[in-house]
Amino acid sequence: MECNRCDAEAVMHAAYSGAHLCETHFRESVEKRVRRRVRRDDLVPREASPENPRTWVIGLSGGKDSVVLTKILHETFAEDPRIELVGLTIHEGIAGYRDESLDACVDLTADLGIRHEVVSYEEEFGVRMDEVVEDDPENMAACAYCGVFRRDVLSRYAEELDADLLLTGHNLDDEAQTALMNVLEGDVSQIAKHFDASLGPLSEREEQAEFVPRAKPLRDVPEKEVALYAHLRELPAHIAECPHSSEAYRGEIQQLLYGLEENHPGTRHSILSGYEELASIVAERYRDDGDGADLRECVECGSTTTRERCRKCSLLEALA
Ligand code: SF4
Repeated sequence: MECNRCDAEAVMHAAYSGAHLCETHFRESVEKRVRRRVRRDDLVPREASPENPRTWVIGLSGGKDSVVLTKILHETFAEDPRIELVGLTIHEGIAGYRDESLDACVDLTADLGIRHEVVSYEEEFGVRMDEVVEDDPENMAACAYCGVFRRDVLSRYAEELDADLLLTGHNLDDEAQTALMNVLEGDVSQIAKHFDASLGPLSEREEQAEFVPRAKPLRDVPEKEVALYAHLRELPAHIAECPHSSEAYRGEIQQLLYGLEENHPGTRHSILSGYEELASIVAERYRDDGDGADLRECVECGSTTTRERCRKCSLLEALA
C-alpha cells in the first residue's frame, strides 16, 4: 500500500483516520500531534523568555512512551532557550526490570545532552518494591503502594528541581482507559482532580500553588503508534512488563477498548475529547462550590495532604 502523501511504501494504517503513511510522513504526523498539544495546552507561557526560562521535568522511566516524549520535546526545544528539559527517573527497586530501563534513560539523556536525575525508593524511603510485595502489610496490590510512592517522589523532586511543569508520557490508550475507569467508578471528585492536575490548557487550569502543574503532550498518540515511532527511530526504549504489575481492572478496560476500537475506529479519541470537556465542567463546579477537600500539611513529612498523616507516611509506617 502506498503512502497517502507520497509514492513511498506505507508503514502504518490508522483505521480511525483512514491514513496510510510512509515512515517519513508517519514520523512527521506523530511529532505534529505532540507539538499541537503543547500549543493547545498553552504549555509555553507568554512570559517565558531567554531571560526567564522554564524548567520542564520529564518523568523518564525508559519505556517507549517517556523516551519518545523526551526525544520529540528535545528536538522541538533544542534551539529554544526558553525551555530547559530535565529527565527524572525513579528506581522502584524491582530486580531485573528497572536496571535495564535505567540504562535506556542514561543512554538517551547522554545522547541528547540533557540533565538526568535518578531517585530511588530505597534512598528516599528505605524500601524496595520487591520487599514491599513480600511484606504487603495492607494486603494491597503492588501498584497501589508504588503509585503512592511515585507520586510523592515526582512532586517533591519537581519542586526541588524548581520545575515549572512536570511532564509524563501518557499516551491516548492510557488516557482513554483512565477516563473510562473514572466514569465507571463514578468518582466525580477524581474526575475533577484528574482535570486540574493534568488536562486542558494550562492557562485555564486553576493555579494550584501547592503542586507543580502537570502535562501529557503525548496523549493524542495511540500506544501502537508510540511503539512504532520508537522502533523506526531506533530509540533506546526498554520494552518489558513489570513483574509486579497488578492493575487487573485497567487490563479489563484495555481489552474492552481494543474491541471497541476495532469495531468502531476513533472510540479512544471520542472518549478522551468528551471526557476532557466533562472533566473541565466538573472541575469548575467543584471550585465554585468549594467542594474540594481541605488541604493541610502531613504531620510526619510536611507534604500537602487531605489527612493528618499522608498516605505515603501511613504506608511506610505499616511497612516498618
Ligand atoms: Fe510500580 Fe505497578 Fe508500575 Fe510495577 S507496574 S512499576 S509495581 S506501578
